[in-house]
Amino acid sequence: MSVEQALSIIKPDGVQKNLVGEIVGRFEKAGLEIIAARMIHLSREQAEEFYAVHKERPFFDDLVSYMMSGPVMVLVLQGDSAINANRKIMGATNPADAELGTIRADFAESIEENIVHGSDGPDTALQEIAFFFGDGGICPRTRQDCTK
Ligand code: GDP
Repeated sequence: MSVEQALSIIKPDGVQKNLVGEIVGRFEKAGLEIIAARMIHLSREQAEEFYAVHKERPFFDDLVSYMMSGPVMVLVLQGDSAINANRKIMGATNPADAELGTIRADFAESIEENIVHGSDGPDTALQEIAFFFGDGGICPRTRQDCTK
């Protein structure tokens, strides 16, 4: 196992359902550390650029509208095999196929409104983290002894 970083997004439906704490709690219980977090409301340009890989798919316009329908929470998770660990905690894209106890099985309404995004590999993780945090905001987990 190696320490990795993954981008997570709590999508507009997750934020609207007030699930930020529930979802972050699941990451932390699994041993993942939050090393960056920011709430933003994506513009159309940002949503289109983030999901550019899907631009030829029939659901692209709906996906972009959904992603800009309300604020999202973007997070960087760090930990052993963080990319796969996060994908396991999220569950399958379609909540109907997601394992019981995963975020999507527990809370998602549909294959589109599926609560969370997570990087699917090391290259996309790097790109996605740079997309949201390229200008800073990653906080390494250091803790100084403040009793001295
Ligand atoms: P993910 O990595 O599990 O999020 O899945 P994908 O990268 O394949 O898809 C990106 C996002 O597009 C998903 O999380 C859904 O929000 C949406 N999506 C994927 N497949 C479909 C689909 O068949 N129909 C619709 N409406 N949305 C979809």
